[in-house]
Amino acid sequence: MNGKRDYYEILEVSRGASQEEIKRAFRKLAVKLHPDKNPGDKKAEDKFKEAAEAYEVLSDTDKRARYDQFGHSAGGFRDAGAAGFGGAAGFEDIFRDLFDGPFGDMFGSQRRRRRSAAQRGSDLRYNLEIDFEQAAFGATLQIRVPKLVGCEGCSGSGSKPGTEPSSCPQCGGSGSVSMRQGFFEIRRTCPHCQGQGRVITNPCHDCKGQGRLRKVKTLSVQIPAGVDTGSRLRLTGEGESGVSGGSPGDLYVVLEVREHPIFERSDSDVVCQVPITIVQATLGEEIEVPTLEGPIKMKIPAGTQNGKLFRLRNRGVASLNGGGRGDQLVHIVVEIPSKLNARQKDLLRKFGEASSADTNPMGKGFLKQMKDLFSAGDS
Ligand SMILES: [Zn+2]
Ligand SMILES: [Zn+2]
Repeated sequence: MNGKRDYYEILEVSRGASQEEIKRAFRKLAVKLHPDKNPGDKKAEDKFKEAAEAYEVLSDTDKRARYDQFGHSAGGFRDAGAAGFGGAAGFEDIFRDLFDGPFGDMFGSQRRRRRSAAQRGSDLRYNLEIDFEQAAFGATLQIRVPKLVGCEGCSGSGSKPGTEPSSCPQCGGSGSVSMRQGFFEIRRTCPHCQGQGRVITNPCHDCKGQGRLRKVKTLSVQIPAGVDTGSRLRLTGEGESGVSGGSPGDLYVVLEVREHPIFERSDSDVVCQVPITIVQATLGEEIEVPTLEGPIKMKIPAGTQNGKLFRLRNRGVASLNGGGRGDQLVHIVVEIPSKLNARQKDLLRKFGEASSADTNPMGKGFLKQMKDLFSAGDS
């Protein structure tokens, strides 16, 4: 009359099928046709509704008997296709059957599985200032890190010793609660127990049931030679303690190297400026220059110009990625004397009179270039 398909045909079972066979058949179809697995597929949705309706009738012995006798014309069968499924009470039973019955797992165990209570602890960051020399040669330093550590009183369980957490009253221990939204049932993490399924009823006195306590822990940090500002050291497992048996986070020590009054870093090289007098620069002299390991002698050759760079091999900082030590670069600054007395000025003037063009080769070259430039413009 209304062109409905036969319920047995829909479920692809024989008329003599057992309840077990009917369930199995519907389970198979429901898995295939479930709207969650066929989003936006109207045909699959209709077929799913059709199968659900057939199952509703055939899984109920009374309804099945009436159906067997009278077919679709038997009263009392809702026309699901026309009425829509929103709020249809009969289907609640089907879903309870599907979710919590022998086939409770049918829509994938993922969704039903209780969220693991174990949570990894947070990573922590600690900013550490170190001396220039400590960065250059490495060091072992003590730091005090405030962090959440596992409670010893309850071994991190949060429950008073000798007591156990109890099953969550809101979700009955499953960790999720179901909500109906029209035709569909939606399961979400239980807000009462955060999906853990258990709640602490006798909280530990020390940690108030948290399983963790805030404490300041002293740690030893091994700083390798060659680190620089921005270098990051990881101390595995020294972050915050995990929850419910979760692994602890890591601690990241981020370094900042203090400025040095003499030295600067340039990767694994160190740079320093060394002022010398015009006399030392002109006549040459052996001078003392600072290095990371103390002063050493260095020869300034006669005629050394301002800004000259001397390289002292292997006097720099160890390279972090192997490859030995860097160098020290000595940057010569020739200081022009100021605040001269009368005698000094007199001597300098005499020196000037005694100088020839060859005394200052760079100046001589410059004068010639200037002369060439202007005489070219004249002609
Ligand atoms: Zn505790
Ligand atoms: Zn719960």
